[in-house]
Parts: sequence; C-alpha cells; structure tokens
Amino acid sequence: MTNKEKVKQVLNPQKRIALIAHDNMKDEIIDWCQDNKEILAGHFLCGTGTTARMIAQRTGLPVFGYNSGPLGGDQEVGAQIVQGKIDMVIFFSDPLTAQPHDPDVKALLRIAQVYDIPIANNRATADFLITSPFLNTEYTHYIIDFKKAVRDRADTL
Ligand code: PGA
Repeated sequence: MTNKEKVKQVLNPQKRIALIAHDNMKDEIIDWCQDNKEILAGHFLCGTGTTARMIAQRTGLPVFGYNSGPLGGDQEVGAQIVQGKIDMVIFFSDPLTAQPHDPDVKALLRIAQVYDIPIANNRATADFLITSPFLNTEYTHYIIDFKKAVRDRADTL
C-alpha cells in the first residue's frame, strides 16, 4: 500500500508517551525515567496503573495512570492509540516470565504496529527513541485510512 492510499498524521513536538513495565522491569523503567527526567518533563506522560504510580512517586514526573495492566490497562492504552491519542510507547516487557495478560500484551504490540506508533521494548530502543530528533519536532507519518477501510468493507460484504 502506498502513502497515497493512506491518511497523513502529524505528531506535535510535544509527544504523548505511554510508559509500561512488567513487574520485574519496573526498577529499570523508573531508572530510565530518572535518567531522562528533563527530556520527559517536556512531554505528556501516561501509563498502566502501577507503572504510572511508581514512576510518579519515585521521579516526581506527572504520569496519568490508566488501569493496571493485568486488569485491562494495556487494552486502555491500545484504545488510546486507536483514537490517535498516544504518539509513542515505552513498554519494558519481561521476556523471561509468563504473564497472565499475555493476549493483551500481544494486542498492544499489534495495534502499535497497525497505527505506526514507535514502541520500545527494551532500554536500548528507548534510548534511541528519546534521543531521536523527531522527539521534539513535528513528525509526519501515514497510516491506513481506517474510515475508508470500513466503507469499502461495508460496500463489498
Ligand atoms: P502495571 O501493568 O503497570 O499496572 O503493573 C503493567 C503490565 O503488566 O502490563
């Protein structure tokens, strides 16, 4: 599919960043937020309930909290992406421990991919994103025209 068939979306210089970490990774995301506190302070931060609360308490950064991940928070973040309200996701998932909400985790990764949202699953990727020139500037990308997709499907089924 070419960009001509897609919809242009411009992300503002101030990004809306979702922060999520599985329990074994919470210290790491807090540490990363602390290291990047000055940069993150210039953006809108949100996250799954426990992660958001812990980052806010330990770093002093304001972080809006959705529900806890295993209780639907990952799905809430996914829904925000669908509505165009999240520009970037920092998701330190635990690659060594089974999660009860694994389907939700996969769904979030998938929906971020569908909507062309940058998503970091480890610290190195998060470091690359936070130092990207696009972080503090407008960024234009092209996403699938979902309204058209619905119209086309309704017309053909
Ligand atoms: P939590 O959820 O921030 O509420 O712990 C994270 C997750 O496990 O998805």
